[in-house]
Amino acid sequence: MTKLYLLLGGNLGDKKSVFAQARAILENTVGKIAAQSALYETEPWGFDSEDLFWNQVLEISTILSPDEVLQQTQKAELSLGRIRKANQYDSRIIDIDILFYGDRIINQANLIVPHPRIQERKFTLIPLCEIASDLIHPVFQKKIRQLLNECTDPLKVAKVPDFP
Ligand code: AMP
Repeated sequence: MTKLYLLLGGNLGDKKSVFAQARAILENTVGKIAAQSALYETEPWGFDSEDLFWNQVLEISTILSPDEVLQQTQKAELSLGRIRKANQYDSRIIDIDILFYGDRIINQANLIVPHPRIQERKFTLIPLCEIASDLIHPVFQKKIRQLLNECTDPLKVAKVPDFP
């Protein structure tokens, strides 16, 4: 069993329902959700308020290999992205990033783990810190809370009101 951290992100459609469906699919295909952050919304730059991005970090216990996880997350993105919305079949309404796979460091053409932009983005670090502040980033050898303290990303990240 490996501790896997995934980041869900999306700004289209009924986000509450899309995120719930994504969690259900991942629980069926990747493994049990051991912890989940609150839902966070990220202040948009130049979007109206309906287009706020939502993010959530999940900790999942999995027996799948990293490549199998990627296959399943991509399948989940595709199946959710194909929900019919205003005659659009191809817009992707959920993005699923693999943040950490245990303490493994993977540098393949199709998969880089830890995800290379974790340390740059408060919309990743803030939900991650909520459920894994003491987790040590295996490349930087720093805790998530320290990476968050050092992060200069100016985007405002706030909990989605009324959740849970
Ligand atoms: P994006 O469109 O930004 O979601 O990027 C998807 C592409 O990034 C896919 O082709 C993946 O193979 C690749 N990729 C590389 N590393 C990762 C990762 N840690 N998590 C998810 N996708 C990844």
